[in-house]
Amino acid sequence: MNRKSILVVDDDEMTRLLIRRSLSDNLYNIIEAENGSQGLSLFNEQLPDIVLLDVQLPELNGFEVCRRIRESLHGKDVPVVMITGTDDTESIDRAYRLGATDFIVKPINWSLIEHHVRYILRASYYLESLKKSEKRLEHAQHIARLGHWELDGTEGCLLLSRQIAEMCSLPGTLFGHGLDYLIALMHPEDRLFARNIFLKAFTSGEAFNLDVRLKLSNKSLIYVQLQGRRLESRNSVSPVLSGVIQDVTELKRSQHRLIHIAHHDALTDLPNRILFHQQLERAMERAKRRRRKVALLFIDLDRFKNINDSLGHEIGDCLLREVAARFRREIRNYDMVARLGGDEFAIILDAVENVQEALCFIRRIVALFELPFYLKNKMLYVEASIGISLYPDNGDSGEELLRNADMAMYQAKRAELHHFSFYSADLTESTIRRWSLENGLRKALEDKDFYLLYQPKVEPGSGHMTGVEALIRWDRGDKPAILPSEFIPVAEETGLLIPLGRWVIQQAVSQLRVWQQTQCAELTIAVNVSGRQLYSDEFTDYLCAVLDKEGVSAALLEIEITEDHLVPNKRDGDCQETLRKLSELGIKMSIDDFGTGYSSLSQLKNLPISTLKIDKSFVDHIPEDAQDVAIVKSILSLAKNLGLEVVAEGVENAQQLACLHGYGCDLIQGYFYSKPVPVEQIALLLESGERKWLKPCTETDSAEDSTRLDRTNYIKPLAESQEESGQKSVISESIGKLN
Ligand code: C2E
Ligand code: MG
Ligand code: MG
Repeated sequence: MNRKSILVVDDDEMTRLLIRRSLSDNLYNIIEAENGSQGLSLFNEQLPDIVLLDVQLPELNGFEVCRRIRESLHGKDVPVVMITGTDDTESIDRAYRLGATDFIVKPINWSLIEHHVRYILRASYYLESLKKSEKRLEHAQHIARLGHWELDGTEGCLLLSRQIAEMCSLPGTLFGHGLDYLIALMHPEDRLFARNIFLKAFTSGEAFNLDVRLKLSNKSLIYVQLQGRRLESRNSVSPVLSGVIQDVTELKRSQHRLIHIAHHDALTDLPNRILFHQQLERAMERAKRRRRKVALLFIDLDRFKNINDSLGHEIGDCLLREVAARFRREIRNYDMVARLGGDEFAIILDAVENVQEALCFIRRIVALFELPFYLKNKMLYVEASIGISLYPDNGDSGEELLRNADMAMYQAKRAELHHFSFYSADLTESTIRRWSLENGLRKALEDKDFYLLYQPKVEPGSGHMTGVEALIRWDRGDKPAILPSEFIPVAEETGLLIPLGRWVIQQAVSQLRVWQQTQCAELTIAVNVSGRQLYSDEFTDYLCAVLDKEGVSAALLEIEITEDHLVPNKRDGDCQETLRKLSELGIKMSIDDFGTGYSSLSQLKNLPISTLKIDKSFVDHIPEDAQDVAIVKSILSLAKNLGLEVVAEGVENAQQLACLHGYGCDLIQGYFYSKPVPVEQIALLLESGERKWLKPCTETDSAEDSTRLDRTNYIKPLAESQEESGQKSVISESIGKLN
């Protein structure tokens, strides 16, 4: 155990000696001073644990020494025991005032002095520990912004611990300020609730835990957590509540931040899907009570993926933020705009009287897209498609309303001309079919469930097959067939046609390579190319790469483009440049379904086109429909004057063939010669077809062209009934029969 050091300051040597004798050597280290000055300097040097100080001293008396010890750096808490011969109360009072801890009155009872010293040292030790732990507690409370409060119900006295009083800029004790005062410090919205809790705690004694906002004198607001319960007192007439109070402002702020993050989209800071659904439910409840409507707008930016891909994600993000800002500026306080993900936004129009009112707002939203967006020095026009569903007309749950607005948006996107579409019940069926088609296509693309059929193009005079058109088929196993006319537009809209189109080109060019070694080496293959493929930046590069890789001459590949895709349009832009590049490569280009679109004669003149394909609809009714005959003849003469080749599509019978041949049509394509067939059949048709196609036919054809037909009569090589799917065996059979 540490020996305690005792400084004895006494001018009487005998007293010092007796003190030393009375205290155990092994427990105490005695330091002696014979006057006040010596005592002070020894105190500062040795820092004793206790001082026994005679009052009567030469030079500096004991009072003065005591005062100076208390003023010194280490002397505040050291016990100072005064030894005095006089027990007059005035000296004692004076000594206590100067900070003395205790007194020993002369004559000293030597047998008790050690007990006395030990007791004072122990008391001093406890006092010091208490101070330390108070300090620690205060420190911890300071960090935790925690304090103590007490409220006397009858006397109306509020007591706050220092820390919390400082925090609220209030005095620690507020006499005459009871519950009302405390409640008045709170935010008005919290008062009623808090008062009830306090009153209940006074009467029931139940513990409580309450979060309230306090208004500070500087007008700022803090969040505090008040916990308390009634103190058990002998006097039940005067109940006292006591507890802790903690400033939880930071905690609340971070909770609010977390809640905000969980309910908002990080990019635009708009409410996200979760908050959107909550608000939608609330809006529907309100509308139900007030017999109003809620309009839900589902908004999707058009071609956002292209913007992202071509201009980069940074611009894409800027655009989304700018769109969000425009929406935010446009909506009323009680409406809500949310970002549902990607380029999808939703607006809830609360308490709409009627469709007309919703329509006014929708027009304003559409108008937001009429102004260009300025994004990082780029000016961009962006359009959006809006689908609208109404509560309660189009659904009574949030899910249903959203699904229906989504479908209506889909409809608006397809219509292209209008930017918005209201939901209608008959939309559902077609949309569901479309969605399942879209999903099916995605999967088929992954699983490579496609194959190509080839339909011959034949010279009517010689019956010579010059080339084939590649036509895609979707292998759906046992499921009912879906024709390209249905799935190609869906693939085009969803962007799936880009990978699908690449696959077609790759297949066709590989086929050309295979044919190079066979009797089919001269055959050309035409592939159909849609607008979106044609306008994609890498289309030409891809074509070149495939031709290069397969070592196939570009002259053997043809491209068929429908008229509408050739006309410069808002969606795709101008394709002149791409066509020029393709033509420089030596690739021939045909206008497919000619006569059904909007191309102008001037375009025909300017575009590097080599072939026109007369649409089947004009061929169907020749020769009996005079107008169609006139159209076909005009197309042929126009083509001749422009130096273009003409292919007639959909030729199904001998009369049609005879007419077309008679009018000078260069090539014929149609069931009359062959339906689209698997590749293995092309070689067989080439071998046997020309012979068969040129065989005289017993059927007579239209009188008008009988002279020509006299020279070349035709028979149909393949059975009309032949089905394309699963047709390999049927075709072989037919060919077998023909030979
Ligand atoms: P298209 O390019 O005008 O192809 C001609 C269509 O008419 C083909 O229909 C063909 O099977 C059909 N056809 C040919 N001769 C006759 C006939 O004598 N009678 C009748 N009733 N029909 C005949 P298919 O294969 O269903 O293709 C329809 C359209 O789908 C094609 O019209 C083309 O625009 C598109 N398509 C087909 N394959 C592809 C492809 O690989 N890529 C792209 N982008 N579009 C394709
Ligand atoms: Mg075609
Ligand atoms: Mg066609």
